[in-house]
Amino acid sequence: MSGHCLLTGGAGFIGSATARALVQAGWQVVVLDKLTYAGRREHLEGVAVDLVVGDICDEDLVRQLVSGADAVVHAAAESHVGRALLDPTAFLKTNIGGTRIVLEQSAKAGVPHVVHLSTDEVFGSAPEGTSFATDAPLRPGNAYAASKAAAEAFVHATAHTLGSRATIVRCTNNYGPRQHNEKAIPGWIRAALDGDPLLIHGDGLAIRDWLHVEDFAAGLVSVLAKGTPGEIYHFSGHNPLTNRWVAQQIADLCGGAVLSHVADRPGQDARYALDDACTRETLDWEPILPFAAGLKQTLEWIASRRRAA
Ligand code: NAD
Repeated sequence: MSGHCLLTGGAGFIGSATARALVQAGWQVVVLDKLTYAGRREHLEGVAVDLVVGDICDEDLVRQLVSGADAVVHAAAESHVGRALLDPTAFLKTNIGGTRIVLEQSAKAGVPHVVHLSTDEVFGSAPEGTSFATDAPLRPGNAYAASKAAAEAFVHATAHTLGSRATIVRCTNNYGPRQHNEKAIPGWIRAALDGDPLLIHGDGLAIRDWLHVEDFAAGLVSVLAKGTPGEIYHFSGHNPLTNRWVAQQIADLCGGAVLSHVADRPGQDARYALDDACTRETLDWEPILPFAAGLKQTLEWIASRRRAA
């Protein structure tokens, strides 16, 4: 499947990788992005998309942009847990209010396929040895995760009231080029390259399941090509690693930077895990890049940008 796709948040980390993957798959892409601190025009350099700078909370603008679209991929969000802990206001506005607008306007315009990006965090912490199925109950453990769970509730509400069938895609932690350095992996890489200590929250034993952003973007293209509107798809990297282990890898790659433990995040979830067996089978998708190679690629990308700056 291809045609016209509206991609919200396309100047962000996952959005810009998705823009590349969609264009490569033959989609004509319009990006709607507010260019917050997390979105950058440079992320779309060399990618044949039209960029509309605007807010998903602008109902008239969204109405215009969804008109005639064959698909909407909704990636715009406030995405950093640390910021949500300090002040969740923008998270409620964009992640819930903005998502409501994208969903309702897409439904009213009759867009055949809307893909809403959600997160493994909506489930809260996964007990050891378990992974969450698509129909597991949502128990978000922080304001970011709560805003994403509420956004999912609007997917169901819009389906109920307007008869739309938006697809929910939940993924595990992404990493790769163009991620903001407030996030764990780029933050540790930058610290290591600067000779600063790599800051670890708490004991560093929280587990995150790392998925390379290009593998995830390929998965999103598969959702549009082979997925059933209204379904829920899980994408997991199958790289469950403690934060301390990942930071140590980065320190070693950069010639021995030191790790420094700081206070844990309030409400830190111990472990995230998604069961994505169904996605792998129905979409014939699996991640390609091994974590070690993806980490080196990310490090080289950040180092090369710094040399060029
Ligand atoms: P990001 O912060 O890198 O990018 C978000 C983009 O949305 C930015 O370009 C920003 O300018 C734009 N944006 C923010 N508010 C907007 C608004 N009101 N109107 C228009 N544009 C706006 O985030 P990301 O890491 O690329 O995440 C993308 C999506 O994937 C989000 O929905 C996030 O919840 C989800 N997700 C991310 C991860 C991850 O590991 N990064 C994991 C699971 C789910």
